[in-house]
This record gives sequence, structure tokens and C-alpha cells, in this order.
Amino acid sequence: MKAQPQASHFIDGEYVEDTDGTVIESIYPATGEVIARLHAATPAIVEKAIASAKRAQKEWASWSPAARGRVLKKAAEIMRERNRELSELETLDTGKPIQETIVADPTSGADSFEFFGGIIATAMNGSQIPLGGDWAYTKRVPLGVVVGIGAWNYPQQIACWKGAPALAAGNAMVFKPSEVTPLGALKIAEILIEAGAPKGVYNVIQGDRETGPLLVSHPEVAKVSLTGSVPTGRKVAGAAASQLKHVTMELGGKSPIVVFDDADIDSAISGAMLGNFYSTGQVCSNGTRVFVHTAIKETFLARLKARTEAILIGDPQDEATQMGPMVSLAQREKVLSYIDKGKAEGATLITGGGIPNSVTGEGFYIQPTVFADVTDDMTIAREEIFGPVMCVLDFEDEAEVIARANATEFGLSAGVFTADFSRAHRVVDQLEAGTLWINTYNLCPVEIPFGGSKQSGFGRENSAAALEHYSELKTVYVGMGKCEAPY
Ligand code: NAD
Repeated sequence: MKAQPQASHFIDGEYVEDTDGTVIESIYPATGEVIARLHAATPAIVEKAIASAKRAQKEWASWSPAARGRVLKKAAEIMRERNRELSELETLDTGKPIQETIVADPTSGADSFEFFGGIIATAMNGSQIPLGGDWAYTKRVPLGVVVGIGAWNYPQQIACWKGAPALAAGNAMVFKPSEVTPLGALKIAEILIEAGAPKGVYNVIQGDRETGPLLVSHPEVAKVSLTGSVPTGRKVAGAAASQLKHVTMELGGKSPIVVFDDADIDSAISGAMLGNFYSTGQVCSNGTRVFVHTAIKETFLARLKARTEAILIGDPQDEATQMGPMVSLAQREKVLSYIDKGKAEGATLITGGGIPNSVTGEGFYIQPTVFADVTDDMTIAREEIFGPVMCVLDFEDEAEVIARANATEFGLSAGVFTADFSRAHRVVDQLEAGTLWINTYNLCPVEIPFGGSKQSGFGRENSAAALEHYSELKTVYVGMGKCEAPY
């Protein structure tokens, strides 16, 4: 199997190679096969990409917002036409089943281009401020060259969620995908050129944790948007702050889902399964601490176990497969070590807990796993695992569960399942998180802002709010009379 791109980088409208860069092997997680070999960007490639973005940005920003919007909407159309091909590539890049990628990856990227392409014609409007005789007006202006750095769980979606608002606002982007999933973003760059974007408006360069800092500290870069872990976020935000750059931080989480005793149990189980097993558990907003009221605990666990054991694990290219492998061997090792800690610290293993026998070969498969009787102090209840490991915790009282749900440094997401609507709103009001769901989980349509609070980050992606993070206000005071001075 091969998925070798024409070259490692896409700069100034074309594929570019520099074999001096360290080799990045793209591994298909379902078999462990190397499907492509690319090179990390050398400092020369970084300079080339930033220079290209800088040149292109001036012209792009001079286009009317509606004209920029037309390009983005065209890109969305091309992505939808090529959904199957892009989804197959995403499956090769990540190991996620085609059943998921066909509905959740390029389509979500296309939604983003379509949404920002649509709203931008009016979203950059400023205001007029009367001041008696004098007056002022504001303009919303782009920041300039912006850098996007991606994680490996949603490579195409992240490339678009950052690219669409950045480009809509009139910036040019240099995007660095995760070294684990280098392929998808190159296709997004190609499609933007085909849709009519000027060369250099969206560049993709490969690289790892050595390359990222070259982009973050580059003096021509005005803003950095990172999707990644909290430790990386601290480094990137620190480096950006030392040069007073704008930042958006989409980081990790350990989000709570609270299931009250009046909840529709099957619906709550669906929410908990979506929020723990989708994308083999590799979703930042996952609700990995599931607090279940003791009155419904036994029923909840029995049905959850049966449904979890029925999940079809296997070949991600088979349309019937519901769960693929983890993205890498290292990630599987990490998750297995957390499962061992869960067992050692006394949690009850309800199902899973190892490598499935049903799948043979070298793929990085793991069983969807549920632990019950998890207590707040256990490692599996405190640290982000980033794999299909659900922790079920007991609770009896509303105030108690809110305090326990909030007792974490993270604040990305949270969910509540209950039939009592006043309770639902009362509880979400007190939960400390950036994105919350009532009686559902993990739905992130482009119309709603997405992002975290506390150590899960700041800034928002999606919705008109994202544009504020890719632009700034310019204020112009207009003096209508003679300029007076006291001296
Ligand atoms: P990671 O932090 O290891 O890497 C993220 C990206 O940062 C990669 O492209 C990496 O090369 C780059 N990087 C690493 N060190 C850097 C540095 N010092 N300077 C600049 N760039 C650097 O994360 P990962 O393992 O790829 O992804 C998993 C993490 O991402 C999880 O914690 C998950 O919760 C988080 N995540 C968050 C969201 C969100 O929207 N909040 C979405 C997806 C994933």
C-alpha cells in the first residue's frame, strides 16, 4: 500500500522537496506498514514558506471579503466532490474507519470553508462611532502571516478549522501537520489552489517538535494556533508570549459526563460511548470521566458492557468496521500502561483491557475498555489517556458531583444527561468548561464556538467567534474641526 505524495511540502502553489530534512515515515496504523516517506522542513524550507505567505498575504487581503469567500466556498465544493478519495486518505493517515472519515473528516473541513466563505462578506464590517462633531470608525483587519500546528487525531479537519477562518479574514497561513499524520493537509493546500486562492496563501510544511519552534519564534509570524497537548501548549504559548504574538490553544482534556438518575439511560450510554470510543478514543473533548448516579449504576453498566462488546473492531477500510486501531504503536503502549494503572489502583474492569484477539497482524489495535468503581484520586481519573478507556465514577448528590467534575486542571468540555431541564441548565452553568452538551455529546457543528477553559486552552475555533482570533480592530478617529492644543 502506498500513499506517497508528490513531495513533502506545498509552498507557493507547488510541491517542494528538500531531502536534507529528517525522514518522516508515514505508517498505516492498521498494518504497521510504511506507506510514505517525507522529510521534515529544513530552516531553508521554513524561510521559503514564510516568505511565500508574506508575499501572498498582501494581495489576498486586498481582495474584497466576498471574493475571498468565493474561493473558500469553491474549496468546500471540491472537498465534497472528492469526499471518498479524501476520506480514504484520512483513513490511511490515521487508521480511523472509513465509516467515520466519510462523515466526519473532509466533510467537516468543507463545512468550515463553506461557513467562513459565506459569512465573511459581512463579518469583517467595522462600526461607526459618533463623537459629537468628530467621529470614529473601526475596521477589522487581518493579522498577517499565521501559523497553524496540528495534532494527529483529525488532520484534515484541523487543517481546515484553522485555515478557513484565517484565510477568510485575509491572513496567509503556514500549516504544519503532526509528524504522525503528514498526508491530508497537503491535499487541502492543493484544493485551495484549484479553488482559485493565490499561490502562497496556504502553505504546508512537514516537521516535528524540532520544526514547530522555528515557526513559532519566526519574527514574521503574527499568530500561532496550536492543537495539541497541554505540555506542548505551555511551550508554544510561552515562546509566542515572549514575542507578544497572538495565540489560540486547543489543548487536552479530562472532561466529565454527568448522568442523573432520571436520564434516558440508553441515550446516556450512547453519549458516553460516542464520547469515549469514537476515533478509537482519540478525541480531545471526550467525556472520559462518566459520573453515573448510584441508583442507575447497575443497569447503566450492564447495558454499556453489552453494547461495548458488540463494537465491530477491524479493517478500517471495511465499511462495516466501527473501530479501527490507535494512531501509533507508541500511543497504544501509553494507553495500555494507563489500563495497567487502572487495574493496579483498584478500579473494576468491566470490559476490554487489552489487545483484541479478533484482529491479527501488526496493527495498533486495542479493546474499547470500561472501568467502574473509579475514584477521583486514581491516575486514570486524573490524566488524559487519549484512547478508548472510559472511567465510570459513582455519585449521589448534585452539588457533590459538580465539585468533583470541576476538580481538574482541564476545562475543555462537559456533558449532562437528565430529563429535568432546570437541573440541566443549573448544572452546566456551574461546570467549568468551554463547550458543554445537554443530553448529547461531542457534536461540534461549525456554527458553534469550540474551545477550552482552564488548562485546556483559550481562543475559539468555528463560528463567527473564530474570526476575532484571526483579526484585530483598527480604530480611526476623524477630527472634523481645527486641531486644538494647550500650548
Ligand atoms: P502534541 O502536543 O504532541 O503535538 C501537537 C503538535 O505540536 C504536533 O504537530 C507537534 O509536532 C507540535 N509540537 C510539539 N512540540 C512543539 C513545540 N515545542 N513547538 C511547536 N510545535 C510543537 O499532541 P498530539 O499527541 O499530536 O495530539 C494529542 C493531543 O492533542 C491531546 O492532548 C489532545 O487532547 C490534543 N487535542 C486537542 C484538540 C482541541 O481542539 N482541544 C483537538 C485534538 C487534539
